[in-house]
Amino acid sequence: MDEPKSPDPSAGRRQTGLPPAVRLSPLQEAWGAYVHHSLRECDVCRSVDGSPCATAEELYRTYWEIGRRVTAQVRDAGAGRNSLPPGQ
Ligand SMILES: [Zn+2]
Repeated sequence: MDEPKSPDPSAGRRQTGLPPAVRLSPLQEAWGAYVHHSLRECDVCRSVDGSPCATAEELYRTYWEIGRRVTAQVRDAGAGRNSLPPGQ
């Protein structure tokens, strides 16, 4: 059995089916890496016995962490706007 591949979604561009000029956001890249691993690369993930896969869990955590950071940035940007006095 092959060793698990690197869970780092930034390690090389993956085939997305999109034109090369189209750049995905880091969140989209991370989700794509998770889905690609789970549905195409990994026999453990595709098995029907529900076996846990450490690589898939790490890819999902990476996706979740990027999403958490993006959400915090949007929230903080909104909080900054709301803290201005009226009319500013
Ligand atoms: Zn897997």
